[in-house]
Amino acid sequence: MSVPLTEHTAILSKYLDLPQKGKILAEYVWIDAEGRTRSKCKTLNKKPNSVDDLPEWNYDGSSTMQAPGHDSDVYLRPVAYYPDPFRKFDNIIVLCECWNNDGTPNKFNHRHECAKLMKAHADEEVWFGLEQEYTLFDQYDYPYGWPKGGFPAPQGPYYCGVGTGKVVARDVIEAHYRACLYAGINISGINAEVMPSQWEFQVGPCEGIKMGDELWIARYLLERTAEEFAVKVSFHPKPLKGDWNGAGCHTNVSTKDMRKTGGMKVIEVALSKLAKRHKEHMLLYGADNEQRLTGRHETASGDAFSSGVANRGASVRIPRQVAKEGYGYFEDRRPASNIDPYLVTGIMVETICGSIPDADMAKEFLRETSDE
Ligand code: ADP
Ligand code: MN
Ligand code: MN
Ligand code: MN
Repeated sequence: MSVPLTEHTAILSKYLDLPQKGKILAEYVWIDAEGRTRSKCKTLNKKPNSVDDLPEWNYDGSSTMQAPGHDSDVYLRPVAYYPDPFRKFDNIIVLCECWNNDGTPNKFNHRHECAKLMKAHADEEVWFGLEQEYTLFDQYDYPYGWPKGGFPAPQGPYYCGVGTGKVVARDVIEAHYRACLYAGINISGINAEVMPSQWEFQVGPCEGIKMGDELWIARYLLERTAEEFAVKVSFHPKPLKGDWNGAGCHTNVSTKDMRKTGGMKVIEVALSKLAKRHKEHMLLYGADNEQRLTGRHETASGDAFSSGVANRGASVRIPRQVAKEGYGYFEDRRPASNIDPYLVTGIMVETICGSIPDADMAKEFLRETSDE
């Protein structure tokens, strides 16, 4: 598929202003078998007051490899909705969970399990901040803005770069940033990354299930804005072979107790639990992540767990500021850019809030020494 621009935005804008006669357009968004978003639109007769006002819907799961042809209906259950930055007015974007005909969650619905874990540990008030890195390609699958038939100069000037030849596609990034703010996504920042045409946005802090919800909507908004510029978004953890940085989704985490004075001890207990479950975590930290976690390009090797203050070559980094103040959060640098945030935040809560025998001993130790 190749067309110069997919949207004739100037002409379209005349129609976008037409009155809608009281109808609301609700764009239902879901996660497909490939870990990308899909969506379709439904006309509603009135503005919803809560997510419960939004009707369940369905789609042909055989067209998305989410159901067999003979039993193809997959049900869309609304779980959250956001103001639609593209259609504006009272129109909304609706995030949905996918459910099968037999009443079981669809194989690619990881939100259901995650929501249960978040609910079970709600009293710990777990906050997350995800740093979504991604890479842009043009419509012919060539790295966006790279010189034709050659390579850009080696990495160095591009991270947080300013000026021609240092950054590309600032228009796409800026449009996406505004779209996120309009939709009420808790986007905390953006920056150009180490590899040319690679960028990052951060969402958070978000508590519990909201983290996965908001990251998925932010990804959806990125694909939609990039579509208008005829730019492709790649979430692959090693989009280009060779001496170019991979793409991650650093996962920043804190519990209520980590954010209190003396929280550093609680962080240490969490890290000892994480060390014990390194392999289980790695299984959920993104496909092809081994191409990225080589121990080079600001990563740790994927084979073993490590942690350190201000160490960007460790699995988990404790920010310098946090070590200094003695409380705060930690950063799990292992997750790849193509993770399902529901899987990653889910196992994170299960590990750090759950009880692992040795870790329980550590907790006991904390109790005994808590008034030091
Ligand atoms: P880095 O220095 O690794 O590039 P960023 O500034 O890109 O870090 O991202 C840090 C993320 O951590 C942000 O999304 C921010 O909202 C989040 N964050 C800050 N404080 C906390 C906290 N206490 N718990 C969880 N996440 C946090
Ligand atoms: Mn960052
Ligand atoms: Mn980064
Ligand atoms: Mn980071």
